[in-house]
Amino acid sequence: MKDNDSLQRFLFDGTDIRGEITSLSSSYQDMTVIQKYPPQIRDLFGEFLAAASLIGASLKYPGLISVQATGDGPVSMIMTECNQKQQLRGIVRGNFEEQTLDHDLDIIGLSSLLGTGTLAVTIEPEKGERYQGIVPLELDTLSRCLEFYFEQSAQLPTKIKLAASSSRASGILIQQMPQTKASSQNQVDWQHFSALLETLKPEEQTTLSHNEQLFRLFHQDDIRLFESQSISFFCSCSLKRIERALISIGLEELLTTCKEQGLIKITCQFCDKEYQFSKDQIIQIFEPSASMLH
Ligand SMILES: [Zn+2]
Repeated sequence: MKDNDSLQRFLFDGTDIRGEITSLSSSYQDMTVIQKYPPQIRDLFGEFLAAASLIGASLKYPGLISVQATGDGPVSMIMTECNQKQQLRGIVRGNFEEQTLDHDLDIIGLSSLLGTGTLAVTIEPEKGERYQGIVPLELDTLSRCLEFYFEQSAQLPTKIKLAASSSRASGILIQQMPQTKASSQNQVDWQHFSALLETLKPEEQTTLSHNEQLFRLFHQDDIRLFESQSISFFCSCSLKRIERALISIGLEELLTTCKEQGLIKITCQFCDKEYQFSKDQIIQIFEPSASMLH
């Protein structure tokens, strides 16, 4: 499908309402091939990825946004992040065995999987101040929790629909623009578009193109769809970052591990890339100036 792995913005002509629609396909599959999750966790992970893509679309300057939930359920943490180039990565942590959850399909959706906890949206521009908004995981879907987040943090009325299947994660958002006047026409427009968006079904989101979804929802309205931005899976791990993490562990502990295991092996949990360090390399990390002398 031509809209796979792309994000598009749109506007409703003559109104103060804007929108975004996103679909992740190979980028999503690349991640779920590396990290094999039970289907219901994979689908929730897909929703978090689509959410990161939608929120990431607001990054006008280089930076990173993350959507992270932590809870006391079988899934203890889900985190996805997206930069201004729509490059995404993410991870799920928890006490779940593929087999046990496969047979317990009642454990489905945000509240059953994560339990009681919080959802944090963090916006980190490369230059400028970091912003974080936190809301409780009290509503039963990620879409609802994020709508609540927008209401609390940005005070911008927002509607979000997220859906994921084994092959595609999709999301759509509509939002009132900042400084929208509280006129009765704006109110009517907002009610109109919100009610239409509510009718979108998850299976339509995961199978229809952006044009088809928007036509299905808003064919009676004047809608302007902008050019698409492509989405990809990209992991920002690097040798430098791993070395920095090793420094925080401390030389003594690393040398002990080296002695026991022959070398230090670190596997990136986002992309599965393996980094290996010999005893000499470990020592060099802690004494970079010494290695320069050789
Ligand atoms: Zn990585």
